[in-house]
Amino acid sequence: MHNKIFETHAHYEDVKFDSDREALLASLPKQNIEYVINVGSNLETTKRSIELAKQYDYIFAAVGVHPSDVEELDESSYDVLEKAAKFEKTVAIGEIGLDYYWDKELGVQEKQREWFKRQMLLAKEHNLPVIIHSRDAAEDTMRVMKEVKAEEIPGVIHCYSYSVEMAKEFIKMGYYIGIGGVVTFKNAKKLIEVAAEIPLERILLETDCPYMAPEPHRGERNSSLYIPYVVEKLAEIRNISKEEIISTTNQNARKLFLSGGV
Ligand SMILES: [Zn+2]
Repeated sequence: MHNKIFETHAHYEDVKFDSDREALLASLPKQNIEYVINVGSNLETTKRSIELAKQYDYIFAAVGVHPSDVEELDESSYDVLEKAAKFEKTVAIGEIGLDYYWDKELGVQEKQREWFKRQMLLAKEHNLPVIIHSRDAAEDTMRVMKEVKAEEIPGVIHCYSYSVEMAKEFIKMGYYIGIGGVVTFKNAKKLIEVAAEIPLERILLETDCPYMAPEPHRGERNSSLYIPYVVEKLAEIRNISKEEIISTTNQNARKLFLSGGV
């Protein structure tokens, strides 16, 4: 029984934490946060994620380039990612994926797909799971995943924003669904439905901080300390205890990222 929170998606290298990063991170274990995965979104933040993982026992690194940043990738910069994947506390390749909300241009979208695919294969090569960012690109995400046989590459669809039907498709491929602050928003009808319908064994807790702060802190800087609001909402939606939400999602995260626990 794991009674502490496993935060699977944070960006503590962000400038919004510059004023109090050390104090905030040092306070997490006392605030019921057991582990944090700091997620890279480009080469620079990948490097910073590794630095944080070296500095704190309870922080792990995910290394990868977000679809909106794939412009910086070429054969030589890709080398940086390959090395980052070998770091001993790297637990995932991410965040990688497709974002057609921010990039409407077809050429850019093609480039996104190309590097999404490459990074999926990098994960497979290093026996690591993936953290997938997918926005306004459900079908193409699924298509690329099928092309690389994603059923053999475990992972999570982070900050999930699609339908219940789509969630079931991802789960069928062995994937987890990342749920954070959005589930507490007043217009979260679709995500609430997802959170109610899918097995708890497939849900991971995340913040995406400093973004996506839950109600009643919507719009403020987010941090792992606000995860209890998400837990409370999930407990209400599923009509089970907060303890069960915390322990099951912790177990899920350990299974996915720490290969059976540490
Ligand atoms: Zn993120």
